[in-house]
Amino acid sequence: MTVPTITLNNGVEIPQLGYGVFQVPDAETEAAVSCALEAGYRSIDTAAIYGNEEGVGRALRASGIAREELFITTKLWNSDQGAAAAAFEASLERLGLEQLDLYLIHWPAPGKDRYAQAWTALEELYADGRVRAIGVSNFLPEHLRRIVDLGGTVPAVNQVELHPGLQQREIIDADDKLGIATEAWSPLAQGAMLSNPTITAIADRLGGTPAQVILRWHIEQDRIVIPKSVTPSRIAENCDLFGFHLDTDDLAAIDALEAGQRTGPHPAKLNA
Ligand code: NDP
Repeated sequence: MTVPTITLNNGVEIPQLGYGVFQVPDAETEAAVSCALEAGYRSIDTAAIYGNEEGVGRALRASGIAREELFITTKLWNSDQGAAAAAFEASLERLGLEQLDLYLIHWPAPGKDRYAQAWTALEELYADGRVRAIGVSNFLPEHLRRIVDLGGTVPAVNQVELHPGLQQREIIDADDKLGIATEAWSPLAQGAMLSNPTITAIADRLGGTPAQVILRWHIEQDRIVIPKSVTPSRIAENCDLFGFHLDTDDLAAIDALEAGQRTGPHPAKLNA
């Protein structure tokens, strides 16, 4: 399987399809990530708060895959926004890596008013070569503007909840204008859209599955996606996306499913 890459605003290439490990217990993470690596995924998305960076690290080492073929993302948790450098080193240690590919501020947590300070710390890690690209997650346009107005590094990525039920057009527009790549978390709405009749009708017509149709809808729009599954058949299914296309009518039918439907918290409200 050859996964296309997206070139970030600093020239670094990220695979358009990655594998997410939110809610996978550490003890099960090595097996899940090993399965994903065997299926052909090379990009893994974890976070300090997921508690499974060590499991990811074990799978990476066991795979024997060359470091430069892998793309590893982890995230700075909200309570560490005032101590980003130490949190970064602890994540790297747990992952067993010398250098990270992408480090994200997990949430703006605007009530703490520390994300701009955290961004400056990430810029230092980037300048020191500890991480190949830095970005943000769950940033609304107002949060993006605040850090871009600092006049330093523009985030390479904004990872946000994004699926047919929550299409985030304002955020995509802000990301595009600033040259920030949009990465979709919960790209399958945690399974909630898989029995939607519009999706199942397209899947039946094309001989694919509902998950493949939704992931292909993301891919056709040049978006980065990181579906999660601990089920080997689904891990394989979710990366078998590159032999078919959706036509403009299919894309428009899925675009019409916008419903303002979140699976996670609103970024303006999460401050813990
Ligand atoms: P997803 O939209 O990826 O959905 C995962 C759910 O869908 C699981 O219950 C999985 O079941 C099921 N599923 C996966 N593939 C299929 C399939 N082919 N057919 C049927 N069911 C399927 O949700 P996530 O919330 O996990 O998001 C993906 C990743 O995004 C996370 O793992 C994490 O890396 C990232 N994320 C980032 C956040 C942030 O704040 N930055 C927040 C949330 C997620 P099963 O595993 O049982 O097979």
